[in-house]
Amino acid sequence: MFRFLFSKNLFFAFIAVVFAVMIAGLYFQFHRVIDKTNLEINKIELNRAKALSEKITTHIKTYKTEDFSQIFKNANLRKKLSNFLSLYITKEFKYIYIIYKDEKNEYRYLLDGSSGKDRGEFGQRFFPLLGKTWKQSFQSKHFVYGIQEKADGLWVTFLQPIEFEGLTKLVLVLDISTKEYDNLKRFLMPLYSFLRFFISVLSIIILLIIIQMYMFYKERKRSTIDTLTRLYNRNYLKEISGSINLSKIAIIMLDIDHFKSVNDNYGHDVGDIVLSSIAKKIVNETRLEDRVIRYGGEEFLILLRWRRNRKEVMRIAERIRKNISKENLRVDNDLSLQITISIGVNTDPDECESLEKAIKRADKMLYLAKNSGRNRVEYSSSYSDAC
Ligand code: GH3
Ligand code: MG
Ligand code: MG
Repeated sequence: MFRFLFSKNLFFAFIAVVFAVMIAGLYFQFHRVIDKTNLEINKIELNRAKALSEKITTHIKTYKTEDFSQIFKNANLRKKLSNFLSLYITKEFKYIYIIYKDEKNEYRYLLDGSSGKDRGEFGQRFFPLLGKTWKQSFQSKHFVYGIQEKADGLWVTFLQPIEFEGLTKLVLVLDISTKEYDNLKRFLMPLYSFLRFFISVLSIIILLIIIQMYMFYKERKRSTIDTLTRLYNRNYLKEISGSINLSKIAIIMLDIDHFKSVNDNYGHDVGDIVLSSIAKKIVNETRLEDRVIRYGGEEFLILLRWRRNRKEVMRIAERIRKNISKENLRVDNDLSLQITISIGVNTDPDECESLEKAIKRADKMLYLAKNSGRNRVEYSSSYSDAC
């Protein structure tokens, strides 16, 4: 059941990832189209803006404005020049005006070609949306521009510095709006936003699936690990039993000798300490690809992987037995116990028709070891020990 649940989760995660990749692909494609379209419009419109700004700048400079303070002093001249700017106001060039910086570095209107309530009066404060671009414009001698994302109906603000005696004193502003850009905004942008929204939702779904998978993993781990010894338990054995290839393992069954007397003489807590210490020792004697399982109360099962060498299996089993019995097991400062174990080994599990039978054969060998005096290893023989 765990496997089923797990694969179902995995399936959904896979589908969600595929979707996310597809949507992300679409999103980036859109991004490219919008960028490209913007670039195309840029090229055409900026050229137009450049031509127009040059015309206006040249015109302003011909109005005896070598000394540009004339414009500040002469209201008639300002009116004339503003009228001139208004000649170029179209649907595309929505606003044309000239800005200066006062001694406090604040932006103010000098001229404005617009009429009506949008018109900026001479000296009126101006608060730009693209502050950085504005700063640049007063520092540079070439035009700069910024895409207007916030202002409705506007596309680009084009800023042309106007120099007097080598210094940028004024900036001519062309607020541009294009039909192409409006189309872009009207049709592509909503789709673009929708895709962005879709990607966010999918990302959340993927995240939730990942969290669920993680919880499932954790739960699975919890249910297959023995809390006292931290070894695998029989649930785990049940889970992997279907995928075990009997021709690629050897089975070792291990049981602590006279363990009941440890409990009886020193108490259950000491018994627990002995159990977990023995478990640790067994793990240290095996390799990572082997599986050590707490099979019963004080009975351990080792599935040795890839040991098709009977002698090697015998050597390992013997080594485990010796290492446990050779020195007293320290429970605490005042108590050390001599612990021995008995081992039954099935060196050829593939002679049995199932894992269950193969384990039973190892168990029989363990029983034999117990009956033959304990603290010893017994091996199955192909000739005499049937499964
Ligand atoms: P033998 O040499 O024949 O194996 O004798 P034994 O006393 O080890 O065998 P028996 O099966 O009679 O006793 C096993 C004991 O293990 C009985 C049980 O109380 C104890 N035991 C099982 N699980 C735990 C545990 O988690 N903690 C502790 N402390 N004792 C446990
Ligand atoms: Mg025992
Ligand atoms: Mg036992």
